[in-house]
Amino acid sequence: PMDSTSAHNANASGAIAAPLTVNVSGPDAASRHAAMADVIVSGTTEEEAFFLTDLGDVCRKHKRWQAHLPMVEPFYAVKCNSDPAILGTLAALGANFDCASLGEIQAILNLGVSSDRVIFANPCKAIAHLRFAKQVGVRMMTFDNEFELLKIAKHYPGAALVLRVLADDSRSACRLGLKFGADPAVTGHLLQLARQLGLDVVGVSFHVGSGATDARAFADAVARARAVFDEAAALGFSPHLLDVGGGFPGDDPAATPAAAVRFEDIARELRSAFAEHFPPSAVPGLRIIAEPGWYYVASASSLAVCITSKRRVVDVTATTPTATTGATPTTPASNATPHPATEPPPKFMYYVNDGVYQSFNCIIFDHARVQAQVLYTGNGVPAMDDEHLAAAVLHESSVWGPTCDSIDCVQASTMLPELDVGDWLVFDNMGAYTSCAASTFNGFALTKHVYTFSHVLVDLQRVPAADGIAHVPAALPLAAGFAVAPSAATTPAVTATLGAATAAI
Ligand code: PLP
Repeated sequence: PMDSTSAHNANASGAIAAPLTVNVSGPDAASRHAAMADVIVSGTTEEEAFFLTDLGDVCRKHKRWQAHLPMVEPFYAVKCNSDPAILGTLAALGANFDCASLGEIQAILNLGVSSDRVIFANPCKAIAHLRFAKQVGVRMMTFDNEFELLKIAKHYPGAALVLRVLADDSRSACRLGLKFGADPAVTGHLLQLARQLGLDVVGVSFHVGSGATDARAFADAVARARAVFDEAAALGFSPHLLDVGGGFPGDDPAATPAAAVRFEDIARELRSAFAEHFPPSAVPGLRIIAEPGWYYVASASSLAVCITSKRRVVDVTATTPTATTGATPTTPASNATPHPATEPPPKFMYYVNDGVYQSFNCIIFDHARVQAQVLYTGNGVPAMDDEHLAAAVLHESSVWGPTCDSIDCVQASTMLPELDVGDWLVFDNMGAYTSCAASTFNGFALTKHVYTFSHVLVDLQRVPAADGIAHVPAALPLAAGFAVAPSAATTPAVTATLGAATAAI
């Protein structure tokens, strides 16, 4: 049941009007789905789609990062999910930030995070954004071409420059090298120009592409970076920063297929590449950072959507039924009507209240594959009931977003029991590149957010504050067993932001 009275939600402009928090009994998917069913039963979301974001999951990711890559400082890629509660949690944990724009830098500084914890990691920056970075003291920034160097020399000659080199992204879902990264053939020229312009090149970065499928791409890129370090040193620079970018997987490891690359595989590959190409003697005082986005947030959020409309599709060419009894989602057997063998198999189209123009834009932009599971059926029987799971008759089904555009298809084909208007589906691993790029196309509001903090019994409601906002304690990550960076944890702006996102009105 709901444990808090706080309301929540992003309004049409994306601002959080008031937060809603719920309890989960554990960090696993079943506990999260049960908590989401509680939200539905409570009626608080008024049948609108909503995310449940587990800030405890973000904390566990940080702990896992520190366990496997203790020598690499994470600069969370804000673009991936700029939810204030997530940013506030990461700030309190002591993570740093990769910002792509003036707006993202502003959002991070507003948390009370100091400017030296930010890297402006957009190799092509607008002059106004560059001036802003100078004004607020964000020095670290990437570049990958000569025109950017000329611009930086004019508007921010004191910047600490990081040369982004091209990495082999051929085995990644999103090939960022199509747009960014200096080819090894031109890095020498760029470094010479930087020298002539009197600029300071402090290091080298790369990005193997989002959704990397081969851990060796990281090791290969580290080797390339080492070559550029040597080029820079030969020209009189003292490079000391290695930025290994993003591309780390972030799905729930329990749900990750055995064949997929795991974070641990990449970490192992990186550690041995550091040992080989950057032994302690090679670059004294070497600082290694990364820009993980997906890794930190993908598994933190699940998305619940309500079926608003339904259509039966009759395939006149088929003669045998495709309905099967089986394994995946579940619903009461009474919901699924078996059909005589002579009838064409019924297929169903379900229209839900979030789609590719909103949170599912990841399907278009990031080649994401999502999987619908039954979350809750209107007759009050929770979908996770094993007894019903075995008995369910499954039908070929498709899931569609709410707009009038036919590209708005969430899942073209999946096997589901027959569902009704008012039933709910859930999609896991929906925290990365979803709400951050959602639109209100066709007049549909942005999807709401509900928060939880699994595993750790922190009462988000009982920390009074002078300004009337109940602040989430800086002790929140402390309670999860983390050391909290003092500057972040004690900064009022951080607690205020967390408070605005997760505490009572
Ligand atoms: N850094 C930069 C410069 C990026 O462009 C991106 C993603 O586009 C990231 C980091 C985050 O990548 P990921 O979410 O794959 O970790």
